[in-house]
Amino acid sequence: MKKNDLIELTIEDIGTDGEGIGRYDNMTFFVKDAVIGDTVLAKIMKLKKNYGYARLVEIKEASPKRVEPRCLYARSCGGCQIQQMDYQSQLAFKQRKIRGNLIRLGGFAEEYIDDIMEPVVGMEEPYFYRNKAQFPIGRNAEGEIIAGFYAGRTHSIIANTDCILGVPVNKQVLETVLGFMRDYGVSAYDENTKKGLVRHVLIRYGFDTKEIMVCLVINGKRIPEETILAARLGEIEGMKSISVNVNRENTNVILGSTTRVIWGEPVIHDALYLRDTTDFKRVGKKTVYQISPECFYQVNPMQTEKLYSLVLDYAELTKEDIVWDLYCGIGTISLFLARSAKWVYGVEVVPQAIADAKENAKLNGISNVSFMVGKAEEVLIDKKESMQQPDVIVVDPPRKGCDGECLKTMLKVRPERIVYVSCDSATLARDLRVLCDGGYEIVKVRGVDQFGQTVHTETCVLLGRK
Ligand code: SAH
Repeated sequence: MKKNDLIELTIEDIGTDGEGIGRYDNMTFFVKDAVIGDTVLAKIMKLKKNYGYARLVEIKEASPKRVEPRCLYARSCGGCQIQQMDYQSQLAFKQRKIRGNLIRLGGFAEEYIDDIMEPVVGMEEPYFYRNKAQFPIGRNAEGEIIAGFYAGRTHSIIANTDCILGVPVNKQVLETVLGFMRDYGVSAYDENTKKGLVRHVLIRYGFDTKEIMVCLVINGKRIPEETILAARLGEIEGMKSISVNVNRENTNVILGSTTRVIWGEPVIHDALYLRDTTDFKRVGKKTVYQISPECFYQVNPMQTEKLYSLVLDYAELTKEDIVWDLYCGIGTISLFLARSAKWVYGVEVVPQAIADAKENAKLNGISNVSFMVGKAEEVLIDKKESMQQPDVIVVDPPRKGCDGECLKTMLKVRPERIVYVSCDSATLARDLRVLCDGGYEIVKVRGVDQFGQTVHTETCVLLGRK
């Protein structure tokens, strides 16, 4: 067997990144874009001692789980990984992924996990769900200015202004920006030469309010004729906020540190509704949020309502309870919980997010909360005296999980319950092991699919003191 050989194999399993896994001649092969149950012809791209990578060439026999991807670019674009899988199979994959990580990486017993794990909460419509998109701007081979998405594992841009995970208005915004750039000779940033102006267009849409925010990330101070661009964008129905963010660094981080409003308001608003956690129907009560361009806000609002309602349910709050909400962003979870608690402390590292969180408390008439800027692991040490002993700690860290110091402090203050919300079940499993070795046990686990067509999922875990 050697590189470029064609092999025929049946896909029997799926890896954590969504790649199909099959065996050929006693070797394991990873075949991207192949689905469990497919028999495929694949070309060997890379060979290791007992495994290899192969590229899907032809589907000989399609799996019953296979569907026709709705997007033309499903295979090449880095955004989606499993569009070729029917949605029920996607959910089953996510359930297995969380379960597998808890068992393999967390070292929890299979029977234990199977006993406490609830079925992943799926979406009603697994398309058009994203309220935020960040489109890189560049040039195609013909030199034309384009907007789109990065191809998998690269920074070459696939031109596409109407991604089916996003909202339809993205296309109108992008076409307006691209048209303006052509009309006024405004350049696109080139990552290789570090020259050119417009790097990214960030678009956010409030599903409840229908308000639109556009933020242009540029390698410079201003866009030539930016008032004309603002006027053109301002005509789009629902436009509320247009800003320019300056990023002159040679970096993969999209946003730079300064943002200047060029039209309308500095923020948009959105609202999230409480849901019943048996049927996940809305039960009326809503919380309103203001959102600045540089702050984190969950990208799938329909599923976020289910996730936060689950957090509230898992937290089992009484009006006597003190809650710490660590990694609180703009106070989304804090405010969702505050109505059922005595006091909520929110901690977050981005200052603008804490400014939004404080404003959000006012917007909702909630006064039993306080918010602090800083790294969770540092604030917990420096300011612990000013925070009342928690009955419940909620954590919702970024993909890399909780800082070790943060986990240590949690174990030291020993709250009754911990609710861990995670967007990466691998780092979740690692942190749960630390918490469980420190005197806690997992009571419940449930995935919430925030990211249909991709391999990503949120997970909500309730821990109790042993
Ligand atoms: N709970 C919020 C935000 C979750 S995203 C929500 O659901 O909307 C994770 C947040 O953690 C981000 O806002 C990020 O800025 C923040 N963050 C990252 N590292 C942090 C740290 N060390 N300490 C506190 N917050 C941190």
